Amino acid sequence: MVASCLQGCGLPQAWRGQEAWRVLDTRFARGFNFLSTWQAWRQDPQRPRMLHYVSVTAAPLGIDELLASSASCPELQLLTEELAMQWSGLLPGFHRLTFDGGHVLLTLCVGDLTAMLRAQQFAADSVYLVSDPADTPGCFPTSHWDVWTAKALARCCRRGTMLVAPMNAAYWYADLTPCGFEMAADPVDRPKNSPAITPSPVLRAQFNPSWTIKRTRSTMAGSLMAVGRCAVIGAGLAGASVAASLARRGWRVQVLDQAHTPAAGASGLPVGLLVPHVSADDCVLSRLSRSGVRLMLQQARSLLQQGQDWEATGTLERQLNRSPGSPDLWHPQAAWLKPSRLVHAWLAQPGITFQGDVKVAALRQCGNEWELLDAQDNVLHRASRVVFANAGGATALLESLQATLPALDIRVNQFPVMQGVRGQVSWAMHNGLPDAAFPPFPVNGAGSVVPRVPIDANGGQGLAWFVGASYQPDDQPATPDEMNHAANLDRLCKLNPKLGQALAGQFAAGAVNTWKGTRCVTADRLPAVGPLYQTEHSSLWICAGLGSRGLSFSMLCAELLAARWSGEPLPVDAGLARTLDARRGSPRHRNQLDRSLELQVSCAP
Ligand SMILES: Cc1cc2nc3c(=O)[nH]c(=O)nc-3n(C[C@H](O)[C@H](O)[C@H](O)COP(=O)(O)OP(=O)(O)OC[C@H]3O[C@@H](n4cnc5c(N)ncnc54)[C@H](O)[C@@H]3O)c2cc1C
Repeated sequence: MVASCLQGCGLPQAWRGQEAWRVLDTRFARGFNFLSTWQAWRQDPQRPRMLHYVSVTAAPLGIDELLASSASCPELQLLTEELAMQWSGLLPGFHRLTFDGGHVLLTLCVGDLTAMLRAQQFAADSVYLVSDPADTPGCFPTSHWDVWTAKALARCCRRGTMLVAPMNAAYWYADLTPCGFEMAADPVDRPKNSPAITPSPVLRAQFNPSWTIKRTRSTMAGSLMAVGRCAVIGAGLAGASVAASLARRGWRVQVLDQAHTPAAGASGLPVGLLVPHVSADDCVLSRLSRSGVRLMLQQARSLLQQGQDWEATGTLERQLNRSPGSPDLWHPQAAWLKPSRLVHAWLAQPGITFQGDVKVAALRQCGNEWELLDAQDNVLHRASRVVFANAGGATALLESLQATLPALDIRVNQFPVMQGVRGQVSWAMHNGLPDAAFPPFPVNGAGSVVPRVPIDANGGQGLAWFVGASYQPDDQPATPDEMNHAANLDRLCKLNPKLGQALAGQFAAGAVNTWKGTRCVTADRLPAVGPLYQTEHSSLWICAGLGSRGLSFSMLCAELLAARWSGEPLPVDAGLARTLDARRGSPRHRNQLDRSLELQVSCAP
C-alpha cells in the first residue's frame, strides 16, 4: 500500500512543476505513508518547493514504537529518526512538524477523524484513505468512518484530487460516490519491487462532482496568487519571520524599517523566554502558544547556535499569584533566546533584502501595485503585496488608508486596539558572584529571571543575568529607571529569594544595566494576522500585536499568513486560526468567529 499510494495518486509525476503539493492522509499509524512520500519528494529532482502532509491519528504511537517500526522498513530508518526528534508533546489537536529547512511540513492532527477533517481549511491534491499495512494487518479504520466523514473529506478536496483506498473498502465508496468521487476503473497493482510490507492493490477515485463546488466555509482562505514580489514593513520578530516564511515559498521580499538596523524595536530585547502558556481548561492562548513554541524551537534548532544564541534549558514557572502552596510548573519545552539573532538569521535567508532608515508614512495604489511612500510622498518601494509588521506603527498606516482610500472600507475599529506597553529589563554580568547563586534554568511567574546568558563583554565572553520586566502603558508618564530597577529586584526576590539577596548589592550600588522597549499589546492579548480588507482581494496584510509573547507567536503568525497566501494547510485548526484574524473586531467577522467556535465545540471528540 505504501508505494501504491504514491503510484495511485500519479506521484511523483503529478507534483512536478507545482509550487506545492498537499497530501491528506486519514490515518498516520506508524507513518510509513508519510515517510515514503517524504522520501519520494527528496529523491525527485523536479519536486515541488513545498510538500504538505496532513495526517490524522486518534492516538500517536509512543516514540519507542515509532522507532521500532522502522526495523521492518530499513530504507526509511533515517527519516524515522528525524521524525522521532520532533515526536513529543502530541496532545489532542494540530501539531506542525517541520523538516528539510521548512520545505516538508507535517501537520499531525490528533483526534477523531471527522472532527479533524472539519477543522481543516485547505484543498488536498492527493488523499490517502488508507491504514498503515504494518499497523494491524487487514484492519482498516472503519470505526472512524461514516457518511459525515465522507462529506468532511470531500470538503478538503479540489476538482481533480486523486484518492487511493484499499480494495476491500467497498462500503466507503457507497458514501464517497454521492459526495462527488468517481471511481477509476484501473486498480493499481502492487509494484514489483516494493517493500515486503506492501499488501493488496489499491482502488483509485477522483473528486469530480457533477455540481459546482462551493467553498462556503473557506472563510480563512487568502487571496491566492502566484509568488512574486512583496514588501514587509518592520524588521522585528514579526516582519523577519513573515519574510522568511514567504521567501521559503519563493517570494522575493523587501523588508523596510525606519531604523538603521533590524531588531531595533521590542525585538532588540537582549534575551527573552520562549515558554508555553498552560491553563486548566487549555484555553485558546494555551493552545496557540504551544503550537507557536514548537515552531519556534524548530527555527532555533535549525538557524541558531545553541548555547550562544539560545538554550533549551526548560523553565520553572512559579505560581506566585495563585493560592499559597500551589505547586510550581516545570516547562520542559522552554528556552531562552536572543531575539535579534533570530531576526538576523531570518533576514539572511535567500530571497530577502533589507532596507533601513526608511519610515513608511503612507501607501498609494498604482495599478496592481502599492507604492510605499515616505512623509514627503517619495516612493520608497513598489510591491504587489504589502505586510504591515511594524507593531504599534501599523495603526498610523491603517488610519491613513482609512482616510485616503475609503473604497477599501478599511476601518481602524475593525482591528483589535493596539496599546504600547513599556518594559524595562535590569541586567549585569555575574561579576565574580559564586556560580551556585544562580539557578541552572530561567524562572518566571510574575516577571522572569534568565540567570546564565553568555554575552560578549570587555573583548571576551562572560555570563550575564537578566531580570524583568516592568509593564506600563505608554499613555502614562514614564516611570524613572531607578523605580523600574527596584520593581525588578522585587520581582526577583519573589521568584528566587536567594538570588534576589545575592544581587541586591548590585542593584543598591546602581551597578545594573538597563534595556527598555515597548510591546505592542492587543486587548485580548492575541496577535492580529490577516488581510486588511475584503478577504478574497486583499493585497494588504498585517501581522502585529505580538504583545509579551513575540517569541512564542511570531513563527506561528508568519506560517499562518504564508499558508493563507498559498492555499496551504494551516498550522493550527481553522477555529484557532480565526481567533487571530486581524479583522476580528468587525461584526461580520465576529459572527464567523462565533460560528466557528460553536462548530469546534460541536466537533470536539
Ligand atoms: C521588556 C520586554 C520584555 C519582553 N520579554 C519577552 C519574553 O521574554 N518573551 C517573549 O516572547 N517576548 C517578550 N517581549 C515581547 C517581544 O519583544 C515582542 O513581542 C516582539 O519583539 C515584537 O516584535 P515585532 O516585530 O512585532 O515588533 P518590533 O520588534 O517592535 O518591530 C517593529 C519594527 O517596525 C519598525 N517600524 C515601525 N513603524 C515603522 C514605519 N512606519 N516604517 C518602517 N518601519 C517601522 C520599527 O522600527 C521596528 O523595528 C518583551 C518585550 C519587552 C519590551
